[in-house]
Amino acid sequence: MTRTHRIAVIPGDGIGVETVPEGIKALDAVAANHDFELEYTEYDFASANYWLKHGKMLPDNWFDELKGYDAIFFGAVGAPDVVPDHVSLWGSLLKFRRGFDQYANVRPVRLLPGIKSPLAGRLPGDIDFYVVRENTEGEYSSVGGIMFPETDREIVMQETVMTRTGVDRILKYAFELAESRERKHLTSATKSNGISISMPYWDERVKEMSAKYPDISVDKFHIDILTANFVLHPDWFDVVVASNLFGDILSDLGPACTGTIGVAPSGNINPERIYPSLFEPVHGSAPDIVGKGIANPVGQIWSASMMLNHLGEHAAGAAILEGIERVLTRGGDALTPDLGGSGTTISLGAEIATEISVAT
Ligand code: ATP
Ligand code: MG
Repeated sequence: MTRTHRIAVIPGDGIGVETVPEGIKALDAVAANHDFELEYTEYDFASANYWLKHGKMLPDNWFDELKGYDAIFFGAVGAPDVVPDHVSLWGSLLKFRRGFDQYANVRPVRLLPGIKSPLAGRLPGDIDFYVVRENTEGEYSSVGGIMFPETDREIVMQETVMTRTGVDRILKYAFELAESRERKHLTSATKSNGISISMPYWDERVKEMSAKYPDISVDKFHIDILTANFVLHPDWFDVVVASNLFGDILSDLGPACTGTIGVAPSGNINPERIYPSLFEPVHGSAPDIVGKGIANPVGQIWSASMMLNHLGEHAAGAAILEGIERVLTRGGDALTPDLGGSGTTISLGAEIATEISVAT
């Protein structure tokens, strides 16, 4: 029997509206040659247009509306001329991440063919790792306050909150990802020499978890030297796990090391699959290029590949990535301007979809 996956599609704002249809094209191309079907339902919320009509980013019943889907395919949110960024972000995407307990933020860092890395001399294959960021607690706790505000005695405090459940579940996710990979190597980001309570706790949990995965080699770096090593020795890494703040930094730095922001994908994962996971490109709504038709669709299309892997459709997920790689390898005018070509979002998306169709 054909498997059916139900997908909530949320293009959002800006270039999200332009790149999401290219992701769907790739999904349709690959589904046509594999034994599954995709059923899409598109939503107009999580956008400035919805905000203008309703004065809020999401309908009140968003949780019940979305919770039954197998995955959410997301474009971008943010239209700073209409809604302040913190309002649009906290009113939509961050509600999804928290409401659906998407505690693992996963970003592959991989040098694709045809893309120049800012790290001179690096070749495709050289850089191929994942950053796994804790997405729900840690340094982003909102616990704290200001004493004696607006006086010379002002004291500002903000706490880091780590729970055993929260730390252990992100570590387990990262160890299992490392286990599924050839190199079976896990790197933990820490700062236990300077942050003397929470980070030693993190290190201790890593040590305890590593006993359960004897075939995985584990190392740890303080965050300062780790960021340097992302640039100097990106080939050292396989799976890198980090707290919310450190992961936030590393998961932007990693994709930046591999070239343009337009190609990087991400998953916000609820590993227990109680709720849908959300897949989106790393880039934002890019107001400066919206409407010009030049947004690179690769980050969105690669996110579609990650989504299929999450849904268990590994062959199809791989076929999308191979399609992307072949088109990038050919290079030339088909590529969008950020990659040195003269193609458009639509023409590059179509070229990748065609490549997927002929190859599978
Ligand atoms: P956010 O706040 O949502 O993270 P941002 O405003 O910080 O987003 P982006 O919207 O990602 O950043 O844009 C950063 C820069 O990268 C902009 O100059 C934008 O034009 C460029 N950019 C982003 N995505 C793409 C893309 N898909 N193709 C080409 N250029 C892009
Ligand atoms: Mg922005």
